[in-house]
Amino acid sequence: MKNGVLFQYFEWNLPADGRLWEQLARDASHLAEIGVTAVWIPPAYKADEQADEGYATYDLYDFGEFDQKGGVRTKYGTRGQLENAIKALHDNGVQVILDTVLNHKAGGDNPERFQAIQVEDGDRCKDVGEPREIEAFTDFEFPGRGDKYSSFKWHWYHFSGVDYDNITGDKGVFRILGEGKGWSQGVDGENGNYDYLLANDIDMDNPEATDEMCRWGKWAMKTFGFDGVRMDAVKHIDHNFTARFLSVVRADAGRDLYAVSEYWSQELDSLTGFIKAVGGSTDLFDVPLHFNFYEASEAGEKYDMSRLLDGSLVMADGCHAVTFVDNHDSQPDSSLQSDVQDWFKPLAYALILLMKDGYPVIFYGDYYSICHHEEEPDGNVDDVREASPHRHIIDILLEARCRYAYGEQTLLFDHCSTVGLVRHGDAEHPGSGLVMLMSNGDEGSKHIDLGPEHAGESWREFTGSIPDTITLDENGCAEFRTQGRNVAVWVRES
Ligand code: CA
Repeated sequence: MKNGVLFQYFEWNLPADGRLWEQLARDASHLAEIGVTAVWIPPAYKADEQADEGYATYDLYDFGEFDQKGGVRTKYGTRGQLENAIKALHDNGVQVILDTVLNHKAGGDNPERFQAIQVEDGDRCKDVGEPREIEAFTDFEFPGRGDKYSSFKWHWYHFSGVDYDNITGDKGVFRILGEGKGWSQGVDGENGNYDYLLANDIDMDNPEATDEMCRWGKWAMKTFGFDGVRMDAVKHIDHNFTARFLSVVRADAGRDLYAVSEYWSQELDSLTGFIKAVGGSTDLFDVPLHFNFYEASEAGEKYDMSRLLDGSLVMADGCHAVTFVDNHDSQPDSSLQSDVQDWFKPLAYALILLMKDGYPVIFYGDYYSICHHEEEPDGNVDDVREASPHRHIIDILLEARCRYAYGEQTLLFDHCSTVGLVRHGDAEHPGSGLVMLMSNGDEGSKHIDLGPEHAGESWREFTGSIPDTITLDENGCAEFRTQGRNVAVWVRES
């Protein structure tokens, strides 16, 4: 079996020109060539404004088809262009994973009045003041779409919280009051109860709302032929709903829909607890490992590299871990900014692409680059895009993953600066197996015993960082090396 690679095909600063789906369609064959097996596309339906990235979700049924919220297309293009991109990816054997935002809705069409009580921002279980009537944009009529695909209209009672009172102009977290209403229990405990994240928080205890989202999920998978979902913000959604949604949508599709969920927490116990709560029905992004990369990149040679995998999901539950270096939220100037410094990215990508466990993600911003908005003297703002310095090494590591990263693994996280791993190869991939070493300090080396079956072999360094070859002795042992602040990938000379 081929090693899987997921490509996150967007970054936060992409120009809002409606060209992403066209670009993705053109890029499909290239992505397949470099070893990408699935593409994670951004929220592809209409948000509260055309330039929005899609997370301020307005209408889940409008994939750039109806004249709503400033135009027909989304930030990324029209429904027709999206369908072309999906077809191009499928024609190249690449799966398409849809970013699925079910926690909240934004950009309601009309205001409604209802009873609510403000709660403390830092402790959502603590009320502030008295219950009162507030006004918020909770009426979603979808005038551009009408009743096509669904006649469901959203009202205040389908939500559990809002962040604004239109009567007084007060901002804050407001819990909506009414029979059976309250924060969901199956959510993260940060801030007392982290059900509320932003905009109009959907009430997962309201059967009308949850039934409608399940209906939508079935419709979207069938209509577009998506191969899976990336569930947004599950930390803020009752885990019972996430499990139910995946179960209902998979049963209806009658095929094996992939799922990865975003639970943005460094607490390993929270991640493993969530996986257990949803019966293992979804993978999770390995957020603790991302933060290890971030801290290692910030600390430089002071970071103890033997701890690089500590507390990570990939070590605790490798079957459910989706490993990544950076994403649209961690990139510079984003909401959860914690971008891994450039010098460390080759090391981080080498680890996630060559280790045995975890489903690795390549981030658009690392492979193609992140767009910078630069203001010119005349006041015009220009989108400046430079080629990524990491693309070359990622291409090499992808090739190494595809050709050599097979078989059993020996981890070599036994030194404060030079660490690495061995993949022992397997019979299905002749010539496979590798030694990967990295150092965050000086150049380093390790004496590695690959076994007598490798006696006398000649090994070369695959990334081009070290020109010499190494000859293994009669026992299959050799001293493998890496440059300082770099990574080396050793493979058998063919
Ligand atoms: Ca919520």
